[in-house]
Amino acid sequence: MIELRNVSKFYYKKGMITSGISKVDLKLDKGEFVVITGESGSGKSTLLNVISGMDSYEEGEMLIDGRQTSHFMEKELASYRKKYIGNVFQEFNLVGSYTVYQNVELVLLINGAKRSFVKQRTREILEKVGMSEHAGTKVSKLSGGQMQRVAIARALAKETDIIVADEPTGNLDSGSAEEIVKLLREISEDKLVIVVTHNFEQFSEHATRIIKMHDGRIAEDIKVARRERSYSSEPGQTETQEEPKKKIRRAGRQQTGKMSVASKIRLGIRNAFNVAPKFLLMLIVFTFLLTGVTSQYTSYLAQKDESSKLGVNTYFPNLSLDRIVIKKNDGSSFDGADKDAIMSVHNVKSIAEYDVLLDTSVFLEDDELSYDVVPRSIDELDAALSKGKMPETSGEVLIAVSADDMALSGEDTDKLLGRTFEVDADQFGTREKLKVVGIADKKASVTGDGHSEVYMMQEDLDKSLARLYHDNSDITVVIAGREQKVEIGDAAYDLLPCDKVAKGEAIVPPETNGFYDDNNSKGKQIRADISNVYYKSSASFKVKDVYTEKNYQKLTGRDDFEMTNGVIFISREDQQKLFVPDNYQATVYVDETGAIDDTKKALEEMGYSVLPLKDVLIPIISDVMQMIQLPVAIVIVIALFFISYFVIRLIMRSRTGYFGILRMLGMDKRSVKRMVDIELITVMTIAFLLFLAVAAAATFGYIHVEYIRQLIRFMTPAGYGVLYVIMLIMSILLSGKFTAGIFKDSVMDTYREEV
Ligand code: ADP
Ligand code: MG
Repeated sequence: MIELRNVSKFYYKKGMITSGISKVDLKLDKGEFVVITGESGSGKSTLLNVISGMDSYEEGEMLIDGRQTSHFMEKELASYRKKYIGNVFQEFNLVGSYTVYQNVELVLLINGAKRSFVKQRTREILEKVGMSEHAGTKVSKLSGGQMQRVAIARALAKETDIIVADEPTGNLDSGSAEEIVKLLREISEDKLVIVVTHNFEQFSEHATRIIKMHDGRIAEDIKVARRERSYSSEPGQTETQEEPKKKIRRAGRQQTGKMSVASKIRLGIRNAFNVAPKFLLMLIVFTFLLTGVTSQYTSYLAQKDESSKLGVNTYFPNLSLDRIVIKKNDGSSFDGADKDAIMSVHNVKSIAEYDVLLDTSVFLEDDELSYDVVPRSIDELDAALSKGKMPETSGEVLIAVSADDMALSGEDTDKLLGRTFEVDADQFGTREKLKVVGIADKKASVTGDGHSEVYMMQEDLDKSLARLYHDNSDITVVIAGREQKVEIGDAAYDLLPCDKVAKGEAIVPPETNGFYDDNNSKGKQIRADISNVYYKSSASFKVKDVYTEKNYQKLTGRDDFEMTNGVIFISREDQQKLFVPDNYQATVYVDETGAIDDTKKALEEMGYSVLPLKDVLIPIISDVMQMIQLPVAIVIVIALFFISYFVIRLIMRSRTGYFGILRMLGMDKRSVKRMVDIELITVMTIAFLLFLAVAAAATFGYIHVEYIRQLIRFMTPAGYGVLYVIMLIMSILLSGKFTAGIFKDSVMDTYREEV
């Protein structure tokens, strides 16, 4: 069945050519028990490797059942090995982490045997080699003789016509060696058994053919008549001579030759768990990979989220994202009916009637403390009083401390209560006193950007408003028909309130006199025109008096002539009317920032023009920054992938022996790949489930680890789904890279590396 014609095999090593075998002619048949002997280096192993398709040859022709093989490539050699050759090695080459049963079963699974048959056949073969009682024992726990029996059982399970054994007794004591020899002899009844040994004595009694190698050539080839012997008393021997043949035929029918998906899954899962330290290491690698990918995903989302929240707008420094600025479409001012209507809209939390104040601040400062707070009307307070009392008269204020306020922390609020601050009333150094009589605690805002506020009586708030509009309006004073523009920061003709001036009257500076022919403005009418983005207003005043440096204090009650020289004083009432006529712009606060667009729509339908501040943010993080976030995250994930790959390869490297065995048994690359897929996916899935469990424990408060809380803060069920898919893809890629690595070398290389 095997014929070698003039076959030579050379080894190339560092430019040197050594001859393994040269010009070997040989014909071997079924039923023979061939023993190849010869001194070390004579080419015995080379001859055996060529015959068993583990190595190629360079010259001559080898015929298998009359078929030429010299043109065989690795793939054809593999299928030849699978179909014809059962191997037994000196070093046994068993899977140490598998049981005896699993080692034999492995071959049958690779050959695509049906499940029921696998069980039955494995038992039969183990019986035959006398290893039934040890079926469940791990191979690493067996003696050398027992291991070699398992190796022979495995070779038998392949149901091949040829069994090759290279120094099968080389690692065995003489007792075990004898049993192995008998076993090999016994199976040679219906197979071709080729044994390489340098210890001819052990085999001399059983060989039917003795080939002596010398210097790569066949020096002697002697056929010995088979001595009839009964082995029925030997361990495990239960079959008569006819039975094995039937069995082989039956076995051939039972083995499809194609490994089933179920077998790949079974082996993959078995391999995932069978070496505990390896399993744990892989679990750690996958946990690392999961954590890394999640942390990239989270930080990417976090940055996106931040950049959508972070933003500036020069018109609205008080940028809470729950704030909507509204005006009426018809240009009219807000009244009580508007307030009620707006409050009834879904998601509206509160209204700040004087919107413009929200973007200003009152600077509370003394020797010790200094805070910026937003002025509000005491009527709009919606936080509970926590200390002190509500303001009752002008000059009394309440501070609502926001939980988001960095500057104003809890301990400072104690110092605030009862303190009086002096604040600027105008640009000329006029100071007014505000006494803190109450403290309220404002909850953290949804968006984490709440400001602390100072709540005042309406009277005091009006003063702030008047000041604010004053500072942001074009003011023109018309004297004797001539317009005088008031420049900001310049006292000339600016309008200041003065309690000593009666309604409708004005006290003017001496320069005013020059506008009139009689050089006297007293008793004349002057007019003030105010215009700003919200409104225009006008008022006329009768000049009651002209002040000079001498009578300044008497007329105005002030002593800051140097500062205010040139100002026109009017009554407070008139000043309020001029600068705080009506309110045209308000702010609506919402409960849910997520639903702000619905609220916007509802308000628009009611006839308001609506501006949610989130829509007018100028992002702080630039588009360029946002554009590089994703690629950076992807690059980091790829880097994580390669780190994991190198670690997994290191872990898997300890298993090159195992993969060498699979190839020797004839498992093809695709099947190995699928099996490794399953193995990696199994470990990955366990890591993933553990990750989910930890995430769930953190979410439901069973564990309190800040890192985990931060890590998963953006994870949603869909996010976990995506994470699993990413991990699945990574596992398959890892397995692909790894399998490609195994199959890069030829079987012999893999095997040699092992040895
Ligand atoms: P044996 O099994 O009889 O000891 P081998 O078949 O292993 O002999 O070796 C035959 C010859 O081939 C020897 O000269 C040996 O040095 C050479 N040889 C065997 N394997 C290799 C190899 N992988 N690379 C180079 N030379 C080799
Ligand atoms: Mg050898």
